[in-house]
Amino acid sequence: MSGLAVRDLVVRFGATTAVDTVSLDIELGTVVALLGPSGCGKSTLLRAVAGLESLTAGSVAWGGADLAGLPVHRRRFGLMFQDGQLFPHRDVGGNVEFGLRMAGVDRAERAERVAELLELVGLAGYERRPVSTLSGGEQQRVALARSLAPRPELLLLDEPLSSLDRTLRERLVGELSAILSKTRTTALYVTHDHDEAFTVADQVAVMAAGRLLQTAPPQRLWRHPADRSVAAILGYRWFAPATSLGLDGAAMAALRPESLVVDVEGSLTGRVLDHRFTRGGTTVRVDVDNLGEVEARTPHLDPPTVGGLVRLRVEPAAVALFG
Ligand code: ADP
Repeated sequence: MSGLAVRDLVVRFGATTAVDTVSLDIELGTVVALLGPSGCGKSTLLRAVAGLESLTAGSVAWGGADLAGLPVHRRRFGLMFQDGQLFPHRDVGGNVEFGLRMAGVDRAERAERVAELLELVGLAGYERRPVSTLSGGEQQRVALARSLAPRPELLLLDEPLSSLDRTLRERLVGELSAILSKTRTTALYVTHDHDEAFTVADQVAVMAAGRLLQTAPPQRLWRHPADRSVAAILGYRWFAPATSLGLDGAAMAALRPESLVVDVEGSLTGRVLDHRFTRGGTTVRVDVDNLGEVEARTPHLDPPTVGGLVRLRVEPAAVALFG
């Protein structure tokens, strides 16, 4: 059986075309991350798959069957949003069992499934806790348990971790990814954060201004974005002919701050403009011949002199090649 097939989907709101002729497949048991800047149409696409937006044109099919006219609750898809939207008057167990109750699952089986899900999300024994006493991260774990409880055929996650602070988000995204793969969940994961997309996804679909620009596995996308606009969405900031950096195999190279390292034996020379402390070292802004202003990293907290010359080494593993 095949999974999700979106074909030439268009969603318009008056004069705004939020989703513009998008085709996307999700194979069973895999996770596709939909990555793009805010306002590019990600949520609208997800909502159209869920049955929450009407399609202007195109189709959405599951297992080969067109879903046109099938209401949200009959699609057997799970939903999880940025704000978990837990029922405040129910306890944790009451929230997690909600979908099962709706499906008419009996009490004993519900209790067993709730315990299993809470164990899975690291909240074993939390059944009777009021949701108002939970931290933001715990609330999102409960929301995940609730959306997985009825064993949805497809899980739709819309920026599920965006309301959490960075440290928590970085930890939870790894856990969430492990849970999705352990439960072999088929999922569409909407995010504007490329690190999050790369952590959770088997395939990353890059979107901008309503259109899908490229769909590829994380490694391939990261090393070989289709073009400059995809590279920019992934966080690459400087572009140069590959040969000017001593690289071959493609016409253009894209660099991000991790791509250049201050190194006396480096092949590039530039003048130091300024520097600042960043996580794990110093980021130096350098004016390099033929490349212009770039940023480079050094693990040392003792920065090079402003106005002086430095040599930079290209870190080939942190450079994207395209064209
Ligand atoms: P993203 O999820 O990538 O941030 P959205 O899908 O929320 O983007 O929005 C895409 C575009 O569609 C935006 O220009 C947004 O303003 C517009 N839009 C989204 N929902 C509606 C709506 N219900 N009515 C009118 N315009 C909308």
